[in-house]
Amino acid sequence: MTIKHDWTKEEILEIYNKPFMDLLYEAASIHRENHDPNVVQVSTLLSIKTGGCPEDCGYCPQAARYHTDIEGNDLMSVNQVKAQALRAKASGSSRVCMGAAWRNVKDGEEFDSVLEMVRTINKLDMEVCCTLGMITENQAQRLAEAGLYAYNHNLDSSEEYYKEVISTRGYQDRLDTIGNVRKTNVTVCSGGIIGMGESNDDRAGMLVALATLSPQPESVPINALVPVEGTPLEEQAPVSIWDMVRMVATTRIVMPETQVRLSAGRTEMSREGQAMCFFAGANSIFAGDKLLTTPNPDVGEDMEMFKALGLHPQKPFVKKSKPESVEATESKFLNLGEKPKWSRPSHKIERNLEAQKKSKTSL
Ligand code: SF4
Repeated sequence: MTIKHDWTKEEILEIYNKPFMDLLYEAASIHRENHDPNVVQVSTLLSIKTGGCPEDCGYCPQAARYHTDIEGNDLMSVNQVKAQALRAKASGSSRVCMGAAWRNVKDGEEFDSVLEMVRTINKLDMEVCCTLGMITENQAQRLAEAGLYAYNHNLDSSEEYYKEVISTRGYQDRLDTIGNVRKTNVTVCSGGIIGMGESNDDRAGMLVALATLSPQPESVPINALVPVEGTPLEEQAPVSIWDMVRMVATTRIVMPETQVRLSAGRTEMSREGQAMCFFAGANSIFAGDKLLTTPNPDVGEDMEMFKALGLHPQKPFVKKSKPESVEATESKFLNLGEKPKWSRPSHKIERNLEAQKKSKTSL
């Protein structure tokens, strides 16, 4: 299938706004042409370093400046990560995604430890993904050499609406990080969040930014905002299932070969709603009772749903073969001790400042 890379916002909006049944039918047809419709990839998300993040992402309870009741923790040990990965494998996950609440990766002991975690999980014959913030080309190369399968870095929303949610890091830096990952053999995972108050135009804008990348990301997570008390977006209305299905279906149509992942917000969705998303082209989920800090359905419940729908978890390395993993002592990339200057737009976002103020008064 030839992949179209010159999508415009108007074209994508036209798809998003189609009559629901037409949209579902088209997305399901494209899904079947490109994927086995009864196979769903299952990933486990592991928060290897939680909380205390210096950024101001309006949706995130891990931002230190807001007052939320999450329990932070320092970087987990390699052994702790290995134990969790083994548990995830036993429950049917083919991929472990390790998330650290960092603005960007800094060369040093902690990054070396993450590289060791990548090697360890790779040796368990599981796909390894990391989401660690912005990274340089050299850092991406070192992750690739350790055996990383995918790197996640979400665009979150359209470039325009992104500025209404985050002021401490720029959109271009996100694209540059994705570009750095692309210089290696690591696959790209990048998506966003709906329900942050954005318009349909913004949703289409985010899909333009992703679908015009060449190659398109191998994986696109679609999250529904889980509003957390204390964050600037705590009062956002829940995303309707119709919007979620429309977003999944549109993503499937404009990125036919990509794995579309149902991510945060699944606890708010009925099984019937999730089944509609799978029909519309979603073919990946996060398993485990927590997604970093927000609730997620229990693995057992997911497997019951898979049984009812006749779905099967995807085996690891089906889409791309297992990357080789080079030991630290054999590495041909030096720790450059880089201190890159990622941008800090620092414009004012009223609701972020309000949430920050409230946090100070509630201490
Ligand atoms: S989304 Fe990531 S970068 Fe933003 S505050 Fe949360 S942990 Fe930090």
